[in-house]
Order: sequence, then structure tokens, then C-alpha cells
Amino acid sequence: MQYDHILIRYGEMALKGKNRKSFIVQLQNNLRQQLKDFPETKVKRTQGRMFVLLNGHDAEAVMEKCKNVFGLQSLSMAIKVQNDETEIKDAALWALENTTDAKTFKVSVKRIDKKFPIRSQDMNQVLGKHLLSNTTGFTVDVHQPDIELKIEIRTEATYITSSVVPGLGGLPVGTSGKTLLMLSGGIDSPVAGFLAMKRGVEIEAIHFHSPPFTSERAKQKVLDLAEKLTSYGNKVNVHIVPFTKVQQHIFREMPENYAMTIMRRIMMRISEQVCRKESILSITTGESLGQVASQTMESMNTINEVTNYPILRPLVAMDKDDIVQISRRIDTYDISIRPYEDCCTIFVPKSPKTRPGREKVNQFESQTDFTKLIEEAVNGIEVVTLTGKADAEKEFDDLL
Ligand code: ATP
Ligand code: MG
Repeated sequence: MQYDHILIRYGEMALKGKNRKSFIVQLQNNLRQQLKDFPETKVKRTQGRMFVLLNGHDAEAVMEKCKNVFGLQSLSMAIKVQNDETEIKDAALWALENTTDAKTFKVSVKRIDKKFPIRSQDMNQVLGKHLLSNTTGFTVDVHQPDIELKIEIRTEATYITSSVVPGLGGLPVGTSGKTLLMLSGGIDSPVAGFLAMKRGVEIEAIHFHSPPFTSERAKQKVLDLAEKLTSYGNKVNVHIVPFTKVQQHIFREMPENYAMTIMRRIMMRISEQVCRKESILSITTGESLGQVASQTMESMNTINEVTNYPILRPLVAMDKDDIVQISRRIDTYDISIRPYEDCCTIFVPKSPKTRPGREKVNQFESQTDFTKLIEEAVNGIEVVTLTGKADAEKEFDDLL
């Protein structure tokens, strides 16, 4: 016997009408996408649940993949049997014997199919007895069991599960439109991208690159970060903007202590142009209020002035420790701390204005014309599409 299904529970409290339908369809598609390396798996919907049919694939490996999909409340490995007392007993026994470290258990039967002759409560007793008399070392604990065997007797079949693993929560990526993530090589912006995705947002990324001041390896670092993010959603297009000339111009022509603010405003303007071109409706950054000079309220106010696109700042109220914790969990931390310089750390002015007023900045900017430089940067954008490593391999295989 072996686990042949993954049972998927999704929270649907906040979902009504049309939302609910698109949520479910998107979730099913995202699961399929996530399981593309397991070609025999099937993702099925039934009333209020989803199932992955393993068709021989390894349950643990498939579970790991499913755990990266937003919109799941919890998951369990399950065995499917017919609505037959003996079959249910055998499977329950197998599930109990195949748990590790459990000493106490509890059986919870839910009889959804009223045609099944034994009532839930009675079936609890029947199974409890069967398990106790066919195993050694187990006792029943109905309050705090090490393991709870859940038996759902549904109309089409009975599903037996032994442990419940929490999902990531959130909404399925693709149900909330698209955002352009400003992705640096730092710790914060990948986490911001992850949290935007958690609300169902699909991402594209934009990165400002200043060769030769920033190296190929700094660029690769950003691509690796974007690659990581693909494991929580679908493919990610990364727009790499050649930013050297703009930066040099700023640092040559503008007062040093305003250079940072002006640079950020130009990043925003370029980002907005990419949004327009790609029909993306918002910009996301890894800014967190008060973290560094450019992230004061005044600074945000002045930088924000150049665009009326909504700017999502999922980290705005978070402490650095919490951000680091998430980055470790989503496996971006080790990439983020690679030492390669990004464009902002190279051109850092000694004392950036912490309260750059709009008027002053506008006055400085009016002394020079950035239009041409911005146009040139936009025209020089290189788009790299990341589909997830496994996917890339598969496409390569298809070519052979
Ligand atoms: P991060 O850890 O994300 O680099 P940070 O704490 O270093 O953030 P800043 O350098 O002030 O903060 O950058 C604020 C935000 O601006 C970043 O989170 C990112 O969204 C965006 N950003 C900064 N540099 C770049 C870049 N080179 N390309 C794209 N976006 C950038
Ligand atoms: Mg940074």
C-alpha cells in the first residue's frame, strides 16, 4: 500500500461569487504548472477540495512542490479506497503503521456519504478497536494525539489521511493582476516580491544595472533571485535596464546629496514606462519605512511624485529581522548576501538628504534634460525570461 493522493484544502472564507470560481480555476492551473515535472499527476476538483492523483509519483516529493503554491490552507497525503469497511480498516492500519514517532492516535471519521451503513461515531469505535488489536505500542488519546487519522467517507470514495501540513495561505498567483517588482540584489526586494505574490499578484521584475561598475555576477545574482521567485508562481520576465549613463550624468550634474533621490525618481520613471508597455498596473518595491536615508516619509513623497501608478510596499511596516526571517524561509537570503555590488551601493553619496523636498529636487532636475538618457535606457532594455530550472530543462529536452 502507499499514499496515492494529496488532499488539498483551500480557505474560501473571503471568496464570493465570481471570485471564488476564478480562485479555484487559477489554483488548479497553478498546481498543474508546479507539478510539470511529475507528468503522471492529475489535479482534480471536487466539492470544496482538490486532489492530486499521484499515479505512481513519490508523495513526499509532490507534497514539497505543492507547498509552494499560494492559496492552500493545508495539505495531506491520502490513501483512496472504496467505501468498504474492510478496505478502510486495512488502509487505516497501514497509515498508522507508517507514521514515525507516534505513540498515541485518534480516529476521526466524517461520513459524507449517508449510504455508507456505519455512522461516523460507530465507525470511530470500529476502527479504533481494529487498530489497537492489530498493533503494539499505540494508545488512543482523543485530546492531544500524536497523530490524527482522518477518514472521509465521500460519495465517490473514502480518503484516509494521517497528517496535516499547513500551506502558504494567500491567494493563487494570477488572480490579482500583475506588478513590476523593482528587484535589486538586496535582501528586501525579493521578499517584497514574494509577499506581493502571496496576494495573488503575478510579477515581472526590473533591474537597473550599471556595467562596468556592477559586474556580470551582480546581474546573475538578480537573475538567480528571480529564478527563486518562479518557484512560487509562474515564469518571471526580468527587464534589465542599462543604467550607467543615467547614473554618471546624475552624479556629474546634480548636487551630490540629492543624487540618490534623483536616481530613484528616474528609476520610477523608467519603471512606469515599462509598466505602460507591458500593461502592468503597479510597481512593487522592497522599501521599509525608516530603514535607510532614501526611505523616510519625505523621501518617499518626493520619489513618488514622478508617478501616479500605485506603488506596493509590502515591507513598509516590517522590521529587518522579520524580513530576514522570510528571506531565509524562501531561500533567497544566501543569494542576497553574495558580495557583488549593486548600482546603488557604488554611487552612494556621502551624505544623502534624508528630507529631500519636492521643490528643491524639481528645481535641480529642471537644470538638465534627462529625456534622451531615459529614452536610451528604455530602448536598451534586455528581457530575460525565467521559467524555473526544471522547465528550462524540459524545453531543452523537447528540442532534442
Ligand atoms: P533591497 O534589500 O531590496 O536592495 P534596500 O534596503 O537596499 O533594499 P534601497 O537600496 O533603498 O533599499 O532600495 C529600495 C528599493 O528600491 C529596493 O527594495 C528595490 O525595490 C529598489 N531598488 C534599489 N536598487 C535597485 C536596482 N538596482 N534595480 C531595481 N530596483 C532597485
Ligand atoms: Mg539594496
